Amino acid sequence: MTARKISAHEDRFDTKGVTIAFTAPTPLAPGLVWACADHPDPDLFHPTDEATLAAAKAFCAGCPVRELCLDLGRRRDEYGVWGGVLLESGKPQVGVPRRGRPPKEKVSPAA
Ligand code: SF4
Repeated sequence: MTARKISAHEDRFDTKGVTIAFTAPTPLAPGLVWACADHPDPDLFHPTDEATLAAAKAFCAGCPVRELCLDLGRRRDEYGVWGGVLLESGKPQVGVPRRGRPPKEKVSPAA
């Protein structure tokens, strides 16, 4: 019996996210204590301002699965606060992105 060749379509379908979802633990995995699982305000982990981001980071600081959470968030290209780090498409962000157009730069007169 020969091995079946995986078509390009199947290769695309087996995405990183689907694979990881079945191999990596999730917040519902028994035996792990995800500190935010019962948090009354899930929006805390999707901050829209720096004060909320700071509160989420402070909450995550005491979480026993912080490193696992961050690793999971990065590998899944997640958004929001994972492991005390704000992620956007799995990439760490310095701060909460500002909404709207960036402010206009003032053009100084030519010297
Ligand atoms: S590190 Fe933060 S976001 Fe991750 S499980 Fe713990 S409390 Fe939740």
